[in-house]
Amino acid sequence: MAEARSEREDLAAGSDFPFAKAKGMVFPRTVLVGHGVIDELGAMCRQFGFPARGAVVTGPKTAELAGNRAAEILNGEGFSVRTIVAHEAVGAEVDRIAAEVRAHEARFLVGVGGGSKIDLTKVVAGRLGIPFVSLPTSAAHDGISSPRASLHDSDSVTSTLGAVPMGVLADTALLVQAPYRLLASGCADVISNVTAILDWRLAVRLRGEEFSSTAANLSEYAAQEIIDHAAAIKPNLEESVWIAIRPILVAGIAMSVAGSSRPCSGSEHLFSHALDRVSSHPSLHGEQCGVGAVMMMYLHGGDWRRVKNALLTIGAPTTAQELGVTNDEVIRALMLAHTIRRDRYTILGDNGLARDAAERLASVTGVAA
Ligand SMILES: [Zn+2]
Repeated sequence: MAEARSEREDLAAGSDFPFAKAKGMVFPRTVLVGHGVIDELGAMCRQFGFPARGAVVTGPKTAELAGNRAAEILNGEGFSVRTIVAHEAVGAEVDRIAAEVRAHEARFLVGVGGGSKIDLTKVVAGRLGIPFVSLPTSAAHDGISSPRASLHDSDSVTSTLGAVPMGVLADTALLVQAPYRLLASGCADVISNVTAILDWRLAVRLRGEEFSSTAANLSEYAAQEIIDHAAAIKPNLEESVWIAIRPILVAGIAMSVAGSSRPCSGSEHLFSHALDRVSSHPSLHGEQCGVGAVMMMYLHGGDWRRVKNALLTIGAPTTAQELGVTNDEVIRALMLAHTIRRDRYTILGDNGLARDAAERLASVTGVAA
């Protein structure tokens, strides 16, 4: 035995890079997708062994749609659940909800609502160190199953790390009732993975950044699924939600595998964040990322028309006008984008775009007509 060990030590000593990698990945434990899966909420929380006291975090409108029902189901299963009506996703609201959760001595949370209610739940659960279940009523971006949360403070949006949901219930019967624009935005967010991956590969070649082919493949697969099925994604059709929701969830899993948003967030996301800053009326995150992906794909020399056609087919915006922003705001966002996250290397490089290049880009791709 002693000999075997010394042989292994020799091997390690002989190598310039003795193996020393270690990495953690946090995933949801159970993901249920389909018609009426809200009814499984009680059974899911039992299966997780959650303690008796919990809280449902929901919005004023989503309480009527599903939040109250979620609380009823849990109380019917013998849990003691309080409903907390959440408002805007800002830091002060996180404090208020956390205080209410503590006062009720709730030991688990269920987030019921659109992106902002789920985001608040993630952050509160992460802060208090308690588990939570995500029950989205809309799928406007790829954050349903990821730990990333967007909090708005004064005029800036910051991305905060919250907890990963222990369970996800994506009920297609609920999701189809959300405005179609939200689903189209979620699809555009996933389509935008195509340029995020190109940026990541570029950063690997130019900066020696760490790469995960598993995460990249999952992210690319998710985008491809949406692009391939774009014609089947339509308003008021529950089957469309069924087709779209799984790639949206897979995109979240890709980020869990990478341990960062890298597989789903590149230059097109920097453009969207920049547009949030320069525009007086920014649009939905996913919509902006979709338009960003068209332009960034052009910069990468890739098939930007394919990206644009998929967005058009789904009914997501492809122009400044459809985003409800001005051409000048798009140009300014393009010029600002490279400064948003200096540690995230993309096709925009260190110096970004000069005004004439930004104008040409927006014009050639038809974003600024
Ligand atoms: Zn996104």
